[in-house]
Amino acid sequence: MSIQVKEVSKFYGKQKALDNLSFEISDTEVVGFLGPNGAGKSTMMKIITGFLPQSSGDVLVNGLNVMEHSLEVRKQIGYLPENNPLYLDLYVKEYLEYVAGIYKLGNKKKQRVNEMIELTGLGLEQKKKIGALSKGYRQRVGLAQALIHDPKVLILDEPTTGLDPNQLIEVRQLIQNIGKEKTVMLSTHIMQEVEAICERVLIINKGRLVADQASNNIHSLKDSYVFDLQFTSSVAKELFQTIAGITHIQALPNNRYQISAKADVREQIFQMAVNNQLVLIEMKSQERNLESIFHELTQ
Ligand code: ADP
Ligand code: MG
Repeated sequence: MSIQVKEVSKFYGKQKALDNLSFEISDTEVVGFLGPNGAGKSTMMKIITGFLPQSSGDVLVNGLNVMEHSLEVRKQIGYLPENNPLYLDLYVKEYLEYVAGIYKLGNKKKQRVNEMIELTGLGLEQKKKIGALSKGYRQRVGLAQALIHDPKVLILDEPTTGLDPNQLIEVRQLIQNIGKEKTVMLSTHIMQEVEAICERVLIINKGRLVADQASNNIHSLKDSYVFDLQFTSSVAKELFQTIAGITHIQALPNNRYQISAKADVREQIFQMAVNNQLVLIEMKSQERNLESIFHELTQ
């Protein structure tokens, strides 16, 4: 077990940011840590990396209690903090050598820096100042510093926030490659991101764990499919109710309907329309946003 979180709570003053959270992450798992803003993701990650003490409960990383062995734990963890703070006035290579120095990599220092530059695709940027880099390349520098000491566990706090679509794809691919050999826990508030990169998803809301699922199961969390339909005439509710999996039918003006379902029932809806000589002129799948799923999960 790489990460064990046991009944962890965290108070900021009187505010409870984490509420009796427990979960485990095994070796080489890539886990998405999902939740809306303020859910407690960053707080949990700071506690796992030993940068913030919990108020109660225990966290073990590779069997070591983080509070008791924070230096040893930090050697085993690579951490990309939220907003990836970097020294903007340093040159990329200079910065990575500085980080390598902190980890006392000794005579392996230069070689590791070069390997990380290669791995994260920073070759052309290595002689630039960090402040001159685009957001995507700064994230790569952040990943390079997190990986430089070859940690077994990677904690990435919103690694793709603020990236443009191309950078997003590249950084996701990079994380996927890294994840083949390491335990990765990455936070995000983007559901598609979890589906793209992670095998498993932990969802927290208001400091509590509300779901722990294989990521391809996210859609089954609740009635996770929503379809917007329009017909040329009105449709009796009973007709929709003949379709298995439909959980909610809302009639809207202009022969429009919003359907919630536990499965992808588009084909059945189309067949129902054909069988009843109804003319279906529009059918759109709605991408459920995380907030609405949280809302249901926490009711
Ligand atoms: P997330 O990363 O999921 O957005 P955070 O862990 O940053 O959530 O925050 C969880 C809650 O704790 C929020 O309500 C936030 O306002 C509060 N919080 C976070 N850091 C501090 C702090 N240093 N002092 C006081 N409250 C904080
Ligand atoms: Mg955060």
